[in-house]
Amino acid sequence: MIQNPIPWPNGARCACAITFDMDADVLIHISKPADAHDRLYPVSMGKYGPTVAVPRILETYRRLGLKQSFFVPGWCVEQYPQAVEAMLEGGHEIGHHGYLHEDPTALSGDEQAYWFARGMEAHVKASGKNPRGYRAPVYNANQKTIDLLVEHGFVYDSSLMADDIPYLMKTDAGELYEMPVHWGTDDWPPFAHYDEIGYLMPVRAPSTGLQAFFEEFEAQYAAGGFWMPILHPFLTGRLARWRQMEQWLENILETRDVWFAPLEDIAAHIQSLRDAGTYTPRTEDLPYYTGPQHLGR
Ligand SMILES: [Zn+2]
Repeated sequence: MIQNPIPWPNGARCACAITFDMDADVLIHISKPADAHDRLYPVSMGKYGPTVAVPRILETYRRLGLKQSFFVPGWCVEQYPQAVEAMLEGGHEIGHHGYLHEDPTALSGDEQAYWFARGMEAHVKASGKNPRGYRAPVYNANQKTIDLLVEHGFVYDSSLMADDIPYLMKTDAGELYEMPVHWGTDDWPPFAHYDEIGYLMPVRAPSTGLQAFFEEFEAQYAAGGFWMPILHPFLTGRLARWRQMEQWLENILETRDVWFAPLEDIAAHIQSLRDAGTYTPRTEDLPYYTGPQHLGR
């Protein structure tokens, strides 16, 4: 059970958001900056995302009438304008995902602010508006990240893991919804095999890897919750995996009472419930800590 379930529109039993992080080949450029440009295998593996997988995914969404969320690093927005234009044309949401997929915890506060702004610029140039949502590269948000999001008027973050369903984060400067992630609905563990960036996972069969996400859905559906896989076009957008996902989606849309929406719409729905006084989300107060917790003292 879920202690504080959110009433979804039209009595839907579960809110669902398939989220894709379109990292393309930025991952190899940030991890091997000196020679990534001439490492053709990882560059090509990443480029498969915007060029082959994204059109495939968007076609499924078009056919099934779905609008969903993508997170794209600013460098990828600039490098793959066709993929980004196709997402926008389909009415999908595009969120901020760093500029070069930089890890916030590896940067100083000033460096973080600089790259955050570069990411914003790329998004505003492509879409004409500020992104409403953010997902930290490798989920590595720190307090400075949250402060930047509040400062720039973001509606939600989607990097943290303190609940099963969306919740509210409050700081002294403001508030932000959290659309919580976790590794059980991330396609990196079952499908990533990428020695150059330190991942050598045993690649699962499409049915086995995706089965974990579908079991997560069943639990959320039973509890009236929120199901959000965190996928990557170059992993789950591959032919056999996406075929399974597409067939599963067709079945779920036909047989279940679900609300598929972009994360910004889900956040707006919760806000409207709060405005009407009909729902109060659980709140996490941040910062969690203001310094190291010295063990044993
Ligand atoms: Zn990413």
